[in-house]
Amino acid sequence: MPIQIKNLDQLQTMRRAGLLVGQTLELLKTSIKVGMRTDALDAIAEANIKRGGGISNFKGYRGFPATICVSVNDEVVHGIPGDRVLEDGDVVSIDCGAVIDGWHGDAAFSVGMGNVDPQDQKMMDVCEESMWRGIAAGRSGGKLTDIGHAIEEYIKSQGKYGILQEYGGHGIGTEMHQEPHVLNFGKKGLGPEITPGFVLAIEPMITRGTHKTKVLSDDWTVVSNDKSRGSHFENSYCIAPDGKPFVLTALDGGKARLGALGIEISELLA
Ligand code: MG
Ligand code: MG
Repeated sequence: MPIQIKNLDQLQTMRRAGLLVGQTLELLKTSIKVGMRTDALDAIAEANIKRGGGISNFKGYRGFPATICVSVNDEVVHGIPGDRVLEDGDVVSIDCGAVIDGWHGDAAFSVGMGNVDPQDQKMMDVCEESMWRGIAAGRSGGKLTDIGHAIEEYIKSQGKYGILQEYGGHGIGTEMHQEPHVLNFGKKGLGPEITPGFVLAIEPMITRGTHKTKVLSDDWTVVSNDKSRGSHFENSYCIAPDGKPFVLTALDGGKARLGALGIEISELLA
């Protein structure tokens, strides 16, 4: 499949989907507490997506049974919400998506519960910043692998972390997962040229130990092989027709975090 190039109209619909995802994640950030079951978070997300006029793109995706993924500690991604109760010091990643009028949004964040180990907090901060560096590097006229190169370079500059290799970012549009696959590591200057109309979900996944993972017997939950804790952040961003980026799943369009990296966002989607 060729890369799906979106026009301004389509990007505006994708912004509505992305904003609903971003707002749902904000609601989850303010709701999550020690003592909560992970399926309570799922119920909050499901209700908010419905209220916003969207549909979950996770529920039923290859049989996935919930609206969000909740991954705790050595679970890095794709955890299924259930009766697990969140404990003090847990590292929790939440991934959420929604569809509006046939167009998809996809984003994730990680957060520590209560008294967080400073090393866990640093891992989360490194993971989040690497996502922003990846988005900043994925500019119009550049090459696709500039993104993964920037992500890896930043992570490696911050310490010893395992960068997951079997999972990565992706194109997004009328399907949640489209071409191209976006690696979170590698050489720069390779792959297709990034142009206006590109929409990519950028999602680094790292651990404090190995990059190697396995999938639990529930067929979904991805855990680190050495039980080290993991972190995952994700945003969907586009290159607008003016050649500038806009982060569809960030409430401010990425203005603050990209601005800090010297990148101006497009005004066309504000
Ligand atoms: Mg996601
Ligand atoms: Mg994704």
